[in-house]
Amino acid sequence: MSDESTVSLETGQVAKVNLLGLSGSRLGDLFEELGEKRFRGTQILKWIHQMGTCDLDEMSNLSKPLRTRLATIGEVRLPEVVSCQDSVDGTRKWLIRLEGGSCIEMVYIPERDRGTLCVSSQIGCALDCAFCATGKQGFNRDLTTAEIIGQVWIAANSFGQFVPGATRRVTNVVMMGMGEPLMNFDHVVDAMNLMLDDNAYGLSKRRVTLSTAGVVPALDKLGDVSDVSLAISLHAPNDALRNQLVPINRKYPLREFIDSARRYLDKMPDNRRKVTVEYTLMDRVNDRSEHARELAELLRELPCKINLIPFNPFPGADFKRVTNTALNRFRDILHDEGYTVTVRTTRGDDIAAACGQLAGEVNDKTRRQARYKRRLEKQQVIKMIEA
Ligand code: SF4
Repeated sequence: MSDESTVSLETGQVAKVNLLGLSGSRLGDLFEELGEKRFRGTQILKWIHQMGTCDLDEMSNLSKPLRTRLATIGEVRLPEVVSCQDSVDGTRKWLIRLEGGSCIEMVYIPERDRGTLCVSSQIGCALDCAFCATGKQGFNRDLTTAEIIGQVWIAANSFGQFVPGATRRVTNVVMMGMGEPLMNFDHVVDAMNLMLDDNAYGLSKRRVTLSTAGVVPALDKLGDVSDVSLAISLHAPNDALRNQLVPINRKYPLREFIDSARRYLDKMPDNRRKVTVEYTLMDRVNDRSEHARELAELLRELPCKINLIPFNPFPGADFKRVTNTALNRFRDILHDEGYTVTVRTTRGDDIAAACGQLAGEVNDKTRRQARYKRRLEKQQVIKMIEA
């Protein structure tokens, strides 16, 4: 799956280049190949990402013969919106079908001073974190750049952002949906560059956040090519527990991960920036006072703020939501240790499902989820026999 032209094995036909996923520079190359000036690339970038125009015929500052020639090699192909649900609190959730038929999810969370879009980078995920609905599906494939930036386009379009006067907008993007973004490095970096590009969405680097579970070599590489905001998904304060919850920890243990996050910050031109530490709290798993103190000690050298996320249970999940008492105690300990701590409030309760659950029910191609459910049922039967 690519943004460039490809030959279909079934039909033998050449698929056109998807212009949606190309940078201004790559679009400039394309026009040069057509014997045109490079600045045409910027013009088409603005048509697609600032004016929301996907029909080449409407791009009126390109001559008719040029539009006709462009249409022979390129087009703008958007992912398909299968469903779009609105919560009473303004949260909006989409189910989006990609080429090949698999689905992903995307969520928009409005707040008083911003609107945050949570974007997916892969169909499924190979990292198999123990508490994650997406991980239970296994890995299907990486998203193309067009499929990642296409999510931003779809959200912006649905809020009327491409015409003046929109009351809601995408002001922030978090690469925190389905998938591990650093496992789809090139496409994610290209898509984030489009989010930042003043001729496309023009978001500030502080308003685009990449969240990773700890693919250390890729995180080191990211610091060489990007300076977006960083979130690290820890979920445990020591290796023994994290090895169980986030299996990639066995390859890149906590100390290596945190040192890599520190190196990422050190490469930033703006040394006031902090990493966001994501910590999903699960009842009697990682929510004890000693866990909070251990976490405080672990993060001592890392400029950071901590975001506590009460676990959102899904059918078949092995974990329960943290109690309010444990959540408050955990937060207070970190606060007393001098950390800035936020608690993610549950939004969109009436349309809620754990991230990845909805798409997982549609996809389930690898049958991993079905196998997982069968295993769970078996365990429950054994428990009943033993009781
Ligand atoms: S939590 Fe993130 S990295 Fe872990 S399995 Fe889920 S999507 Fe993948």
